[in-house]
Amino acid sequence: MAGDPRPVDVLVLGAGVAGLLAARALVGAGREVVVIDKGRGVGGRLATRRIGDGVFDHGAQFFTSADPWFAAEVAEWEAAGVVAPWFDRRLEPDGTSVVDGHPRWRGATGMTAIAKHLAVGLDVRTATRATALIAEDGGWRVRVAEGADLRAGSVVLTAPVPQTIELLAAGDTTLTPADQQALAAITYHPCVAVLALLDGPADLPEPGALRPAGEPLDWVADNQRKGISPVPALTVHAGPDTSRRLWDSPDEELVATLLAAVPGLQAAPLPGGTQVQRWRYARPEVLHPDPVLRLDGLPPAVLAGDAFAGARVPGAAASGRAAAALLLAEA
Ligand SMILES: Cc1cc2nc3c(=O)[nH]c(=O)nc-3n(C[C@H](O)[C@H](O)[C@H](O)COP(=O)(O)OP(=O)(O)OC[C@H]3O[C@@H](n4cnc5c(N)ncnc54)[C@H](O)[C@@H]3O)c2cc1C
Repeated sequence: MAGDPRPVDVLVLGAGVAGLLAARALVGAGREVVVIDKGRGVGGRLATRRIGDGVFDHGAQFFTSADPWFAAEVAEWEAAGVVAPWFDRRLEPDGTSVVDGHPRWRGATGMTAIAKHLAVGLDVRTATRATALIAEDGGWRVRVAEGADLRAGSVVLTAPVPQTIELLAAGDTTLTPADQQALAAITYHPCVAVLALLDGPADLPEPGALRPAGEPLDWVADNQRKGISPVPALTVHAGPDTSRRLWDSPDEELVATLLAAVPGLQAAPLPGGTQVQRWRYARPEVLHPDPVLRLDGLPPAVLAGDAFAGARVPGAAASGRAAAALLLAEA
């Protein structure tokens, strides 16, 4: 088509941890890579937000680094001042904890800091929403809401899988029955998150966080005690069943219900100091058995992310790395 942009080697859809690590590995191997993300900033579910003076992590809260490859990566992040250890204990539902010596890491200024660090030196285009993935001769055409199509020889697709399926369908891209079946099997838990700027400390046990039994809440943390907020700033995550049940409730009702469920909370939210975030695809529930999925019978397209190599930040990281390795091995 006249005026079409020149194709790049690889388009990475998603500037979360999986997409950014895939892009870094590909660029490191000499590939020309463009990363797009529909968000205003990078990070995806590594998400940090401000309300007034409060700083809140509202997606991922911390991560571990058991895998030696990931531990080496995290050591680099620590040396760069991007992450810091938060605690080294297993949190029990009754508020007690058992020291186990494994560091739980946080972003030094919030989880988004990690994504910002990983994005340095990459061609990352935020506020760029893909609307269709079209297989064409020699690669892929990616339709975007905000401008001209993008073209690439290969794609790495790290959006939550149901969203990737929609983008492929919108591009009339037909999957093999086996790929259709494998992708349809992947499911996610939702999570309703309430953020509240408080008029005083939340009085949570060490380390400023509580992991209740799972319903109605599965996580409560004071971001001030965590070390990222100058003022008391509470993140509350509803459990999966509660999130499904209350999904369509008005924000005020969600704030009132979830804050009332926080054990022993005396502090009150400041006026105008609350927000709600609904994560439709918070955490994978049924994962794909392999670290990535290479679509069959199409130009190179690799699905990656936390639904593939493990349901958390380390799994998403490992999957992004595996996606890059697979594409580099194919070339
Ligand atoms: C509430 C919550 C709590 C969590 N707690 C923890 C925790 O404590 N520890 C832990 O290890 N993990 C936790 N996780 C999980 C962790 O956040 C994820 O496993 C990890 O961040 C996933 O990274 P990813 O790169 O696979 O996906 P994402 O971070 O979701 O990245 C995908 C990106 O694709 C983009 N995208 C989607 N569709 C389009 C489109 N059409 N066009 C352009 N861009 C698009 C999105 O904007 C997004 O940035 C939590 C997640 C949530 C939501």
